[in-house]
Amino acid sequence: MSTVSSFALERAIDRHPPITTPGESIKSALIQMQTAASSYILVAQAGNKFASLLTERDLLNIIVNSRHSSDISLAAVMPAEVITSHIDQITDLLTARLLLRQHKIRHLPLVSDQGCIEGVITYDNLSRLLNPIDLLRLRHVEEVMTSQVIWAPPHTSLTELSNLMASHRVSCIVIGEASPMLGCIRPIGVVTEPHIIHLWMQGANFDHTQAQDLINGSFRCILTTDSLWYAHKLMTTDGTRRLVVVGTDGFLAGVVTQSSLFQSVEPDEAQLTLKTLTNIIDEHTVDLSQANQKLERTIQERKRAKAALQQQIARERLVNRITQNIRQSLELTSILTTAVDEVSAFFQAGRTLIYRIVDEERPAGEIIAEAGSAVAGNGAPTASPLGPALAQLDMDFYASGRVHSVPDLEADDRSSQKTRFLAAHGIRSVLIAPILVKQNLWGLLLLSQEEPRRWERSEIKLFEQITAQIGLAIQQAVLYSQLEIANQKLLNQANTDELTQLSNRRHFSHCLAKEWKRLQREQQPLSVILCDVDHFKLYNDTYGHQAGDDCLKAVAQALKQPVKRPADETARYGGEEFVIVLPNTPLEGAQHVAEQIRLQVQGLNIPHRSSKTSDCVTLSLGVACCIPNSKSSPEELVKTADMALYAAKESGRNRWASESHAPQLQA
Ligand code: GH3
Ligand code: MG
Ligand code: MG
Repeated sequence: MSTVSSFALERAIDRHPPITTPGESIKSALIQMQTAASSYILVAQAGNKFASLLTERDLLNIIVNSRHSSDISLAAVMPAEVITSHIDQITDLLTARLLLRQHKIRHLPLVSDQGCIEGVITYDNLSRLLNPIDLLRLRHVEEVMTSQVIWAPPHTSLTELSNLMASHRVSCIVIGEASPMLGCIRPIGVVTEPHIIHLWMQGANFDHTQAQDLINGSFRCILTTDSLWYAHKLMTTDGTRRLVVVGTDGFLAGVVTQSSLFQSVEPDEAQLTLKTLTNIIDEHTVDLSQANQKLERTIQERKRAKAALQQQIARERLVNRITQNIRQSLELTSILTTAVDEVSAFFQAGRTLIYRIVDEERPAGEIIAEAGSAVAGNGAPTASPLGPALAQLDMDFYASGRVHSVPDLEADDRSSQKTRFLAAHGIRSVLIAPILVKQNLWGLLLLSQEEPRRWERSEIKLFEQITAQIGLAIQQAVLYSQLEIANQKLLNQANTDELTQLSNRRHFSHCLAKEWKRLQREQQPLSVILCDVDHFKLYNDTYGHQAGDDCLKAVAQALKQPVKRPADETARYGGEEFVIVLPNTPLEGAQHVAEQIRLQVQGLNIPHRSSKTSDCVTLSLGVACCIPNSKSSPEELVKTADMALYAAKESGRNRWASESHAPQLQA
């Protein structure tokens, strides 16, 4: 016996019942009962030995019906046989309850080994203390089930089932298979009124739908010997109001309904049971509603947290997208235009502009990118008088990296003081952030509205983030352009001859190879002229090396004059030799150019007294031409030009010669 139930049992036992002796009169017994406010009295012999028990009703019956005097002694009227129980036999409330029910009594005297009175258990006390669940546990399904069951075989149509229900006034039909040998029915399902109604609503065909179509595998029966509590639990779990009852042999025994569970219990028991169950449900409802409220709060909190997180993610995505767009270009103008467009589109601002500070000492600057209503259709900033006005802004404030938001320039507050002059330019509210490049104030990003606007904290934060990204993009663009310039310089250096500033031999080879390929595809002529200063060794010997250098510079300049087409390339081939590439030029054209060059250099009239050819500096030139093909090469073309040059030298210098008919260069 558990401590709890033994405690409950102890409370059910009246340890101090009113006790009288057999010699006392009915009258005195009644008075004693009244004093004790008890509905019964025990009669004890010497030594508190139990003799009998009399209830109020017993005594009144004796007086009224038997017409005995109330002075008659109890010994004469008290029942000789009274059901008692040994105190140790009652282990819990249920056992006590069972005994009371079994003997149909309302008082159970408890006695010791010696038959002495230990106490009394009364029905009232028990009912007060007994858990209704225990009551339901005590009773069996067979006690309350109805055996008058209407059943039908599986092939019965819905129409027949409905008729059966109507004619028998029942709310369910058990579907079963008859066992003719045994005359029993094995239930396989149950069809209820709600079933029929549901099918009717769905427009089922009542003649063609059969009972077996409605039966599913989840059909559960209950045994006759199962407790009412089990029946109750099963109904709750299965969400049904009735259960089919079978015997231990599995054959149909009856049906138990939810209401029969309670109706079967005696009215006061049922009352108690219902009341307690209601209490339990109420308690659970309170618990549930509290839990629900808590859950609701948690859900709300989670929703808020989720929304905040989503906003944060959306903001980050936006900054990323804008950043990506801005950073897509390394070209400053494109960066700034993209930046104002993106910011303007996102903030739905009247005007978005970037103000570039040109002179930090004496604040001056210009609007270099702008988007919004004040911008012309082509995206170029309109001539705006706002530009010069912006120089009045407190640049020191922005240089410290702070963002300035003004909801309303016309409001009389601190935020509007320093920007009030902007009102003259049709601006009512403004958001200004510094663009810092390498921590120096490079310019400002400015959003403006023609009407007041309360800038949200999240907007200001976003604006700040975007401006920081613009600063980085600008820094990157500046670095990139510096790098570009440096690269270009390097490239030029690598391709240029230092003395003459003409292309060097490396660049010449590159150009020649490129043109060779192109003209091979196009099958167009390619000419090369090799030039060599005549008797230049003697020039150096006569005038000195420095004069020699100056002479080479002058010759280089002169060479460039007759070479006019953009694709033509003049280069220093080495020493006092020069080379000219003439794409899309036939031999005659190249010969013409060679002659022009010769004349040009001769026309310089650089004195050369040691020359054996002339009294001034002259050139000899070798001209070669071919239509490039795969059997030949650029090197061979140069070699042919060199042979022609050799021929020019041999035949007297200060002239050109050509070797166009060299067999290996014929297309
Ligand atoms: P030819 O008419 O046969 O070409 O006779 P040349 O003296 O010009 O030919 P040669 O190959 O014998 O001499 C070339 C001279 O050019 C040798 C060298 O002193 C001079 N030279 C080569 N490069 C430079 C240079 O960069 N500066 C100066 N000052 N002289 C150079
Ligand atoms: Mg030479
Ligand atoms: Mg020479």
